[in-house]
Amino acid sequence: MSYVIAAPRPVSVPVKATNLRFPVRRIYCVGRNYNDHVIEMGGAPGREPPFFFQKPADALVLDGNFPYPSGSSNVHHEVELVVALQSGGKDIPPSAANQHIYGYAVGIDMTRRDLQAKAKQAGRPWEVAKAFDHSAPVSEITPAAEIGILDRAGISLSVNGAQRQNSNISEMIWSVPEIISELSKLFELYPGDIIFTGTPQGVGPVQIGDALSARIEGVGEINLQVCKPS
Ligand code: MN
Repeated sequence: MSYVIAAPRPVSVPVKATNLRFPVRRIYCVGRNYNDHVIEMGGAPGREPPFFFQKPADALVLDGNFPYPSGSSNVHHEVELVVALQSGGKDIPPSAANQHIYGYAVGIDMTRRDLQAKAKQAGRPWEVAKAFDHSAPVSEITPAAEIGILDRAGISLSVNGAQRQNSNISEMIWSVPEIISELSKLFELYPGDIIFTGTPQGVGPVQIGDALSARIEGVGEINLQVCKPS
């Protein structure tokens, strides 16, 4: 079989301390999953049903460089635990969700906050705010087989050495097994799907020249340089 144009390269993420790579099918993201972040965004704390959006797989950034995107003057960092699935299915109960986890990574859900605010106001979709090129920096993946199932770990992000976000994944409104379960009621999940699980309080703008450093205890870290658009 021949393609009429060059086929896009498959997207994959390195697995820590190996030569292996994790192939990525889809990137799902959870909105408003830490109450202190819900409050800083002007919402009311509580346990509303989780809601989801996607980023394209080729929005992943693996080389540590984040080109400041066009069309925005207010681009925010959101540090998040990323869960990588080794298997999937539909209507997965929370009690069976953890067995689908291959591993974990540190991700930053980069967001054009100004365009998101406009979209919210106009009742429009979030793609331009959330799913733009380079909007999904991610670290290497650490296998769950090495660190176990995570339900408590410090999560933090600093900009130019100053801490901006600092919380614990135990503060999630919807736990990882609950997220997998709820998502699988809406989409059939497959091996290679990854999930950004929401951000804690402290989101804020980045500027060209900033150095971001984000970490999750036991999982790893990601260092990111905000650079001029190419
Ligand atoms: Mn987010």
